[in-house]
Amino acid sequence: MRVIAIKVMIGLEVHCQLNTQSKLFCSCEAYPQNAKPNESVCEVCLGYPGAKPVLNKKAIDHVVGIGIAMGCKINSETYFSRKTYFYPDMPKNFQITQYEVPIASEGTIEVNSSKIRIRRVHLEEDPARIIYANGSLETTSYVLIDYNRAGVPLAEIVTEPDIGSPKDARAFLEKLSAILEYLKAYDQSTGASLRVDANISIEGGERVEIKNVTGFENVEKALNYEIVRQQNLVRLGRKVERETRHFDEVAKTTLPLRKKEFEEDYGYIFDPDLPVLKISAEWITRIREKMPDLPDKIAARLADEYGLGAYDAKIIVYTGSDFATFFEKVCKIHNKPVEVSRWMINYLLKSLNWRSERLSQSKVTPETFAEFLDMIDKGKVNERYAKELIKEYVDTGDKPSEIVERAGSPPTHDEMERTVKNVLKENVKAVSELKAGRLEAKQYLIGMVLKETRNRGDPKAIARMISEELKMPL
Ligand code: ZN
Ligand code: MN
Repeated sequence: MRVIAIKVMIGLEVHCQLNTQSKLFCSCEAYPQNAKPNESVCEVCLGYPGAKPVLNKKAIDHVVGIGIAMGCKINSETYFSRKTYFYPDMPKNFQITQYEVPIASEGTIEVNSSKIRIRRVHLEEDPARIIYANGSLETTSYVLIDYNRAGVPLAEIVTEPDIGSPKDARAFLEKLSAILEYLKAYDQSTGASLRVDANISIEGGERVEIKNVTGFENVEKALNYEIVRQQNLVRLGRKVERETRHFDEVAKTTLPLRKKEFEEDYGYIFDPDLPVLKISAEWITRIREKMPDLPDKIAARLADEYGLGAYDAKIIVYTGSDFATFFEKVCKIHNKPVEVSRWMINYLLKSLNWRSERLSQSKVTPETFAEFLDMIDKGKVNERYAKELIKEYVDTGDKPSEIVERAGSPPTHDEMERTVKNVLKENVKAVSELKAGRLEAKQYLIGMVLKETRNRGDPKAIARMISEELKMPL
């Protein structure tokens, strides 16, 4: 793929399912655990005629908090409107949202030292979940609908088209999601998610919207695909048309969904069932006073308090609040922060990612992780074995000392010598290379010995044995 310097403008609309007990306009549980489809529903969220919405104040608290965190202006008077459309995910045939005046407007988030302007943050209700029963959006012959999601509160965060690359779009989303999480406005452990609509245009072309992408990596991929597609159209002398597209997660391509409608087409009207929402100065002050520290500030504190590098501190914080809390808990037991951070970032995170698991969902605890580091520290396990051990530890959550015990005792000195002799005998070529002065050959032989001992040997001792056996200097 040819990389051409071309001006790309990306704007994002992020829908965040807010962390509340009940839905936005009724008392149905927002995130019922183990509920069957269409169990957490009532007259209001099913849109029965005459059913009246009652606003959940907690959801407003969250949006005000999000606004404050992004340096937004909080509007003292805002309204709810009906956005009219016909689709099976909306039984009322309208979605209650905010159109004219959102709760918060005009903020910024800094990403890779460029300022991304936030146009607005508003509150709206989530539609129902549509399940493509036998295939995908394009191929299914019928759909199933689960109204448990209908009426879950959403904060919609809309940026100006200030994002200059798909990579920055992903960085923006990672930062945004961490901020939302530290604010406790967003809690993935309940099953809440972030959904992204990405708008992208290249110089001279119309804006294309890619709807409903889940996963930040997918957003980056969808945008990269769009840049190439739009450039190709321009190169062929064709116009990029204004339209809405869908991201196919399997093919990693975008497909046309519909010609883009304009906002006016939705025929917004004020919702007569909901009063004007007045947000008083006292209300804002109350939220401002209990604002938690935000990720950048926490990262600076961790760097300062524990002597971590700025980069490592940011990884710990932006991996998630569970990760940062865990780091501090482990340090209380095993007071070697740099070592704790190194093993968490390089090995613990890798094992968790491999299992697609967050730390808070895993069986790993600060106590057992501290024990693990202590065993490395005291030489009870070597680093190489520890890198294997951590995988089994993350898989099972068993105490590291018990896993080591199960694996049997490490080889004795005699067993080691025997293994070294065998390896030297079986690797004639490497031995002659080593004798000819190629030091990489020694590393290779040490690796072969460790493979035989399932990483239970000490590489330094093995190196010594090899030298002794071949009567070479160390
Ligand atoms: Zn309900
Ligand atoms: Mn929306």
